[in-house]
Amino acid sequence: MKTIGILGGMSAASTQIYYRELCDLTRSRLGGLHSPELLIRSLDFDRIETLQMKGEWDAAGSLLNSEAKALERGGAEILILATNTMHKLADQMMLGIDIPLIHIADATAQAIKEANLKSPGLMATAFTMEQRFYTDKLIASELNPIIPNDEDRSETHRIIYEELCKNVTTQESETTYIEIANRLVEDGADSLILGCTEVGMLLNQDNVNVPVFDTTLIHCSTALDRSLE
Ligand code: GLU
Repeated sequence: MKTIGILGGMSAASTQIYYRELCDLTRSRLGGLHSPELLIRSLDFDRIETLQMKGEWDAAGSLLNSEAKALERGGAEILILATNTMHKLADQMMLGIDIPLIHIADATAQAIKEANLKSPGLMATAFTMEQRFYTDKLIASELNPIIPNDEDRSETHRIIYEELCKNVTTQESETTYIEIANRLVEDGADSLILGCTEVGMLLNQDNVNVPVFDTTLIHCSTALDRSLE
């Protein structure tokens, strides 16, 4: 089993889900007392969010690069970056690093294609929904992502930063998210990408009417496949 390096804390709420999911998956695949070989680097999300808000992406990229190098030096053999948004900086993060990165958008696109679906709705941070770094990856995989309208994008983003990243879940926000997901389906989505690693705290296959692709769970499963190859 190869050691997976997780660069996380973005937010800590979802890094906890990664840890639990990787442990559960390893136990169910290997049985007995097996658990994953992991190195988890959990950053202070306040630092990251400040850089995002100031638009200091270059500084954020250098920080991710030095932390990824530290994971490699520490013995990680595979890297995962436990946030969709910060994949904006994946290339800068991987400069000078020899171990492979499992890109969250590639893993997700592959899962959607394997399910023979084509037009996923995307609920994520404004960065992920509005900039090209993520949707271009989906389009390169011949998918046709559908993005929420202006008001729904800003509400999706607000709930991520003001609630989910602080480990807060409310019935009201769950209802709002279900309504946004339904509008995406009305706009033609045949599936839904939970394109932020915290969105699965509110949405899942039980409250969404189309197939759900939770990037956190897909990322864990793909990383474990690679670790066990
Ligand atoms: N975890 C989130 C994501 O998957 C948002 C937090 C961040 O900006 O990294 O995009």
